[in-house]
Amino acid sequence: MAVERTLSIIKPDATRRNLTGKINAKFEDGGLRIVAQKRVQLSQAQAEQFYGVHRERPFFNDLVSFMISGPVVLQVLEGENAIARNREIMGATNPANAAEGTIRKEFAESIEANSVHGSDAPETAAQEIAFFFAGIELVG
Ligand code: ATP
Ligand code: MG
Repeated sequence: MAVERTLSIIKPDATRRNLTGKINAKFEDGGLRIVAQKRVQLSQAQAEQFYGVHRERPFFNDLVSFMISGPVVLQVLEGENAIARNREIMGATNPANAAEGTIRKEFAESIEANSVHGSDAPETAAQEIAFFFAGIELVG
């Protein structure tokens, strides 16, 4: 296993319910270190570009509207096998299928308002981190 970095987003449904600290505790208890973090309001253009891979999906417009419906917390998480580890801690996309103890099982409201995003592969992690963070903002 190697030390990796992954991009995490605490989504608007979670910031609205003041769950940032509880979600961060799940990452830290799960062995990941938050090496960069900022709370921002995404623009429509940023959300469309970020989720551009889903542009043709029927839920795309709703997803973009949801992602700009309130502030998000952008994070870089670091640790052994961080990309897969983070997705384990998050749980399945649909909270109905998420395992006990995962963020989405405990906190997600729906398949769309599912509280967190995590990169899905090394290439997307590198792209997504560079999309939101300058190198100077990352301090291990
Ligand atoms: P994310 O990319 O946000 O980490 P994921 O990789 O688990 O989530 P994706 O398939 O990449 O899931 O979908 C991206 C996001 O789009 C989901 O997290 C969810 O917010 C939304 N989404 C996915 N499938 C649906 C659906 N069937 N209906 C509504 N929204 C959906
Ligand atoms: Mg995804």
